[in-house]
Amino acid sequence: MAGKSFFIDTTRCTGCRGCQAACKQWNQNPGTKTSQRGTYQNPPDLSTATFKLVRFSETTDTRGEPKWHFFPDQCRHCLYPLCKEAADRKAKGAILHDARTRAVLFDPAVKVSPEDFKEIREICPFDIPRYDEKTGGMAKCTMCFDRVSEGMIPSCVKTCPTGTMNFGDREAILKMAQNRLDEVKKVHRRASLILPEAVRVIFLLKDYPEKYHEFAAEKNGSGITRMTALNLLLHPAT
Ligand code: SF4
Ligand code: SF4
Repeated sequence: MAGKSFFIDTTRCTGCRGCQAACKQWNQNPGTKTSQRGTYQNPPDLSTATFKLVRFSETTDTRGEPKWHFFPDQCRHCLYPLCKEAADRKAKGAILHDARTRAVLFDPAVKVSPEDFKEIREICPFDIPRYDEKTGGMAKCTMCFDRVSEGMIPSCVKTCPTGTMNFGDREAILKMAQNRLDEVKKVHRRASLILPEAVRVIFLLKDYPEKYHEFAAEKNGSGITRMTALNLLLHPAT
């Protein structure tokens, strides 16, 4: 299958946030002023200036010891992007699907109304798109399209020191993800890959998705897996 994909092996993530900083630096996004909220996660959420966010889910284990589930969140570059389906109806040209990499790209020059943006954000199974009310533009991860088009890997992948972030041709990434899952499952029986058949950013989690983040797996009822299967049947080259 054509196109690129990421494999994010969260079992290796240390929460160092190098990927988050590299993303900001490459995209020349400004820092976000925040305050202490009693968590190490910072900033609190994705925004038009934060395309990549390491979420810190803080719990305790059975012995009462602190436990973290790190989740380096970003757009999943869905094979069948529901955001684009909504944008094509509401703001034609605001969301593009690159033919070679299959990156899902937002064009900030195409203005969308707050009402139309609400619909686009709500349909995203992973709650990714963000909106600048001042400019009327949307923003999210670009798959470092400018780097990848020149044969480089995304800045978050280049920076990650632990092997959590991986990127490459889709078939190779799918194999890498499956091999690592087989290995991790020997120790963590709840380990799973999140919707590898429907997304280009494939997360490996060693525990239930809800322990990481509300939208680590698809929102209830988004039907992305069903719609992807249908789309692939109709358009096998997607
Ligand atoms: S994760 Fe959301 S914003 Fe990203 S391609 Fe999929 S539907 Fe669109
Ligand atoms: S750079 Fe790698 S190890 Fe550090 S937070 Fe990001 S994904 Fe995790």
